[in-house]
Amino acid sequence: MTRAYNFSAGPATLPESVLQQAQAEMLDWHGAGASIVELSHRGPEFLQVAREAEADLRTLMSIPDDYAVLFLQGGATAQQALIPLNIASPGQKADYVLTGHWGKTAIKQAKPYVDLNIAASSEAGGFRDIPARGEWQLSDDAAYVHITANETIHGVEFRDTPDVGDTPLVADFSSSIVSEPLDVSKYGVIYAGAQKNLGPVGVSVVIIRRDLLECAGQPRADIFNYASHVAKESMLNTPPTWNWYLAGLVFKWMLAEGGVEEFAKRNARKSALLYDVIDSSGGFYRNEVAAAVRSRMNVPFFLKDEALDKPFLAEAKEAGLISLKGHRAIGGMRASIYNAMPEAGVQALAGFMRDFQQKHG
Ligand SMILES: *Cc1c(COP(=O)(O)O)cnc(C)c1O
Repeated sequence: MTRAYNFSAGPATLPESVLQQAQAEMLDWHGAGASIVELSHRGPEFLQVAREAEADLRTLMSIPDDYAVLFLQGGATAQQALIPLNIASPGQKADYVLTGHWGKTAIKQAKPYVDLNIAASSEAGGFRDIPARGEWQLSDDAAYVHITANETIHGVEFRDTPDVGDTPLVADFSSSIVSEPLDVSKYGVIYAGAQKNLGPVGVSVVIIRRDLLECAGQPRADIFNYASHVAKESMLNTPPTWNWYLAGLVFKWMLAEGGVEEFAKRNARKSALLYDVIDSSGGFYRNEVAAAVRSRMNVPFFLKDEALDKPFLAEAKEAGLISLKGHRAIGGMRASIYNAMPEAGVQALAGFMRDFQQKHG
């Protein structure tokens, strides 16, 4: 059996060495006589796994002490509802900057709980750009400003942190967390589902400035209360232990590879290579996103002739390159190239794309 290069947007490819380690530890975790998924989340073995994962993520991202880190169930979508419930008062204003599909889901989830203001949107232009900061219509008294750091489907990424003054900046980093150095202190909340860049689906990371845990928020069950999760170290109920463990192995792998500085370099090279193939194809391949905000993680592209989509996918698969079909919302192709996608995989895809153009162009 040979593993293909897997360009899936999420759940996405994981480092092979992590999968091998998980396989080796599957039946007997470090001499415990059982798999880590068969042991109590309150036992010493899993507590060690959980605490190391948090410590490693703090190291990777240089997370300041005045931020709490949570490992929660429910995916990024659940956080999109929990954020207004926890840090906005009933009917309080919240500003949203809409730059793609996941911004829309964030708005949908928050709408029941806040007086939602779309401060800026690139929807009219087909989500191919990010509205200039000077054009944002921010509210004076918003509970927070929400952005999607990287739009996984549209391939649009903030390349710097917008200045929103004293209002807490809340950012969905599901598909770009740990892809490059980030100044966490510029954010009120950073959240991410794990299945793009952190590990397996089933666990989400929430990084929240501790003073925001004191917001009264809205009437909500204890299980939807971030402060309660922080007080119980994300073990208010049984956490997704297997997912947390695997994410922890991915963090250790990232640290061993050189951390976010190293991944920033690799990710810049990987995305530049694909955009170069696209831009130098004379229109055979096309990416319509404004160059300054093109995503380094998700490279959507279209072929000149839609009739070539099927042969492209079939021949790519033959060549050991899988999951390149674009999201149904926009069609075309998409190459997701998170940290765990090796440079050799992107080079193989670039070579394939050039060959395919020669053959069919
Ligand atoms: C995948 C994704 C989501 C949705 O994540 P779930 O874990 O399925 O809820 C939200 N935001 C972004 C940016 C994503 O890439």
